[in-house]
Amino acid sequence: MDTITTKIEHESHAEIRAEVRKLCLEFPGSYWRELDRHAAYPEAFVRKLGENGWLAALIPEEYGGSGLPLSAAAAILEEVQRAGCNGGACHAQMYIMGTVLRHGSEAQKSLYLPKIANGELRLQAFGVTEPTSGTDTTALKTTAKRDGDDYIINGQKIWTSRAEYSDLMLLLARTTPRDEVKKRTDGLSVFLLDMREVKDHGLTIRPIRTMMNHATTEVFFDNMRIPAESLVGEADKGFRYILSGMNAERILIGAECIGDAKWFTEKSTAYANDRTVFGRPIGQNQGVQFPIAKAYAQMRAAELMVYKAADLYDAGLDCGAEANMAKMLAADASWAAAEACVQTHGGFGFAEEYDVERKFRETRLYQVAPISTNLILSYLAEHVLGMPRSY
Ligand SMILES: Cc1cc2nc3c(=O)[nH]c(=O)nc-3n(C[C@H](O)[C@H](O)[C@H](O)COP(=O)(O)OP(=O)(O)OC[C@H]3O[C@@H](n4cnc5c(N)ncnc54)[C@H](O)[C@@H]3O)c2cc1C
Repeated sequence: MDTITTKIEHESHAEIRAEVRKLCLEFPGSYWRELDRHAAYPEAFVRKLGENGWLAALIPEEYGGSGLPLSAAAAILEEVQRAGCNGGACHAQMYIMGTVLRHGSEAQKSLYLPKIANGELRLQAFGVTEPTSGTDTTALKTTAKRDGDDYIINGQKIWTSRAEYSDLMLLLARTTPRDEVKKRTDGLSVFLLDMREVKDHGLTIRPIRTMMNHATTEVFFDNMRIPAESLVGEADKGFRYILSGMNAERILIGAECIGDAKWFTEKSTAYANDRTVFGRPIGQNQGVQFPIAKAYAQMRAAELMVYKAADLYDAGLDCGAEANMAKMLAADASWAAAEACVQTHGGFGFAEEYDVERKFRETRLYQVAPISTNLILSYLAEHVLGMPRSY
């Protein structure tokens, strides 16, 4: 990573970055390739990150975490990706945390946060997307009905990543029917669901195989009974609690994409300098240099937006536009760097042992999830530029 490290003097949280990079060295490409072949969960990697406190970065010190700002969490995840590892196995704990911290009750926080901080419990599952509603979140159909001291949940989620490897899930469900609320964003509630209590008692999790190793699932709720204390904040106000966490999610995914872009560009330049064809390094050809250089420039610009969005977030300022732009620009930069990397490697770009094809598959996700590029552009057009809503 030296070429790129020396050129980026403005990177923050240097000590954290160095520590994370050191940890990641224990998980080389061979580790990830083996998991990828078997669609297996990177248990040892996630455990190690947890044991070293990195997954508790955002948990306040009073609950056993390190109380770091979002910019530090971004640095951690960026370094994970930059080292060729995959933070997709555990990044959700970082971005889900904000909703629990800001809107959870004192009882919920003191019950769960210390155990999450010391790695005893995992909060890695985020149940929002449903098969029929897709991006139109407020059209979701999962219901939560109050019944005495309980809620009864019925419905289905899809793409609930890491549900099999998490103890807790942050779940969004409808508590008041859509036709009984004034605004379609009303009537939704957030639950901190303790899955240990309900697995096979109303909760069924089925893995979905995808083009990359992401441990994603579909989740079914069949008269699943949970205690009313699982509700986060007030009933019917959940959509805004989830929205408040989405900026953090976008910034952190943006940081991961920056890490990916750096990994790809480092690989590309090393190979371009090393590979000799027609008696000279392929990197001497401008046709090989330019896509790599262009992706590098895209990455540097996107990186500024990721840092800007994180700084605004940490200062408690509105960062909706910047968080969205950071995610989109960084995902585009990582995709450009990935494409250049495959092309630079020629046939070897397709060979498993180079890790390029694996990272190529992994970084493609961020054009679609957690929010697709079109929806970000629509957001900017409507909310930043004042054009009519298109949908
Ligand atoms: C591997 C993976 C992991 C995921 N993990 C999670 C998770 O842990 N938790 C969770 O809740 N969700 C998760 N998701 C879901 C993810 O957030 C959604 O896939 C994403 O938001 C897009 O929703 P959709 O797939 O329903 O696409 P749709 O909403 O069906 O959209 C399909 C396409 O149409 C476009 N489109 C739709 N409406 C418009 C419009 N109005 N204007 C222009 N274009 C439009 C979209 O941009 C997209 O390209 C995951 C998805 C994947 C693939």
